[in-house]
Amino acid sequence: MNYLEVNDLTVTYRTQGGPLPAVRGVDLTVEPGSKLGIAGESGCGKSTVALALLRLLPKSAVLGGRVLLDGEDVLTMKWGRLRAVRWAGASIVFQGAMHALNAVHRIGDQIAEPILLHGGVTRAEAARRAGELLEQVGLPAARAAAYPHELSGGQRQRVMIAMALACEPRLIVADEPTTALDVMIQAQILRLIDRLIGDHGISMVMISHDLSVLADTCDRLAVMYAGRVVEEGPAAEVFAAPRHPYGQALGAAFPRIGDPASRRNPRGLPGDPPDPAALPSGCSFRPRCGVAEERCAHVDPTLWPAGPGRRAACVRVLDGTVEAPAARTAPETAVEETR
Ligand code: ADP
Ligand code: MG
Repeated sequence: MNYLEVNDLTVTYRTQGGPLPAVRGVDLTVEPGSKLGIAGESGCGKSTVALALLRLLPKSAVLGGRVLLDGEDVLTMKWGRLRAVRWAGASIVFQGAMHALNAVHRIGDQIAEPILLHGGVTRAEAARRAGELLEQVGLPAARAAAYPHELSGGQRQRVMIAMALACEPRLIVADEPTTALDVMIQAQILRLIDRLIGDHGISMVMISHDLSVLADTCDRLAVMYAGRVVEEGPAAEVFAAPRHPYGQALGAAFPRIGDPASRRNPRGLPGDPPDPAALPSGCSFRPRCGVAEERCAHVDPTLWPAGPGRRAACVRVLDGTVEAPAARTAPETAVEETR
């Protein structure tokens, strides 16, 4: 059985300007011990999905569909049960640790807090465990006495990871865990996450706007655009030969793993994702798509089979006109910009 199964998840934010459909029918699955990557530009709904998985969205969010965690629906769970599931069933690592950590508490106490919350341990035991966790993420146990501002960005992100591990969850959701860090530290943190979840047999949902980061570390990959998954399949295949024009453009925007220049200058796709409150007719990627056709204004594509274990929401997969290999060549502009 899948450890995580998301069926037809919808999230609409109530805003002053009216309803904002941020997530529009997302299906995801994560097998025990496996890693799912979610890619997509800013504004495509990735964080909204991440927060929905643990029901951490603000009150203004209206949810639909199901989020099954080990067969139990997180969206309809009673509050007490939800509290138990958070941390121990699944925990989350946010982007930008400075905002997620409490500035006025020592980091050791912050790591110990969820352990105490789950009960059955003394303060001293929780503190000892916090020290152990710090060591697991590559920090000396003595750093438990430090305040967040005394740590570097990379160290703070390590603390976040220690917190996420605190109650031995079966799933960790990491939302852009390295985006705020410089490239060298990014690579270290990604290796750390990889080692820890491997050692502990934890399942993972890893979110990034950078397809190459996910291709490197995930088993499967889902590419989101305008609140939907538009492409899905084995990570290496989706990265090497994307079937959706958006997957192709996103891959071209981050041509090489560990190439700092290209990462700082994501190019290759003009414009921005649409405002969820004003989606274009037909395919929502149409206005930015280099191969859009007349029919794309009328057909709202859903995920169609696009090869073994793969699906893509583009009419071209229906008639087999997708030529993948060319997609890995970055556009001229991208090459010039990144040198
Ligand atoms: P991503 O993580 O892919 O950048 P988000 O999930 O943060 O995307 O945002 C998806 C859409 O929902 C965006 O249009 C964003 O402006 C909107 N949004 C996110 N959070 C809220 C909120 N709390 N209230 C209203 N709109 C929101
Ligand atoms: Mg986000």
